[in-house]
Amino acid sequence: MDCIFCKIINGEIPSKKVYENDFVFAFYDIEPHAPIHILIVPKCHTESVLTLNIDEYNYISEMFKAAKLIANDLHLEKNGFRLVLNTGSDGGQTVMHIHMHLLAGKKFLDF
Ligand code: 5GP
Ligand code: ZN
Repeated sequence: MDCIFCKIINGEIPSKKVYENDFVFAFYDIEPHAPIHILIVPKCHTESVLTLNIDEYNYISEMFKAAKLIANDLHLEKNGFRLVLNTGSDGGQTVMHIHMHLLAGKKFLDF
């Protein structure tokens, strides 16, 4: 499958790994939009929230679990952070493998 994130998960494309378990893989975004910009990606290929099957919902809770773990690890509890899931063209999604952005290290004043 020609998917950048599947290739990152299986190591075909190198990345700066932050966290990994059986369900998710997290790594630093190549073009950060904040001082800390991490992508949390499930180890199942599905395009977005629109294509998610009921048997894949577990991966979504695993993404949130990973976000909490990473936030704790990077001591982000005090100042907080932003979690973003872009969907489709109006949502600004460019990689068609569902993923969560964890953005931190600055104050986000707008939506
Ligand atoms: P989207 O715009 O789809 O919500 O987010 C995709 C993100 O993936 C973008 O922020 C982009 O910078 C990041 N990205 C795309 N290709 C690569 C890559 O090869 N390596 C890494 N680390 N990030 C990537
Ligand atoms: Zn994929």
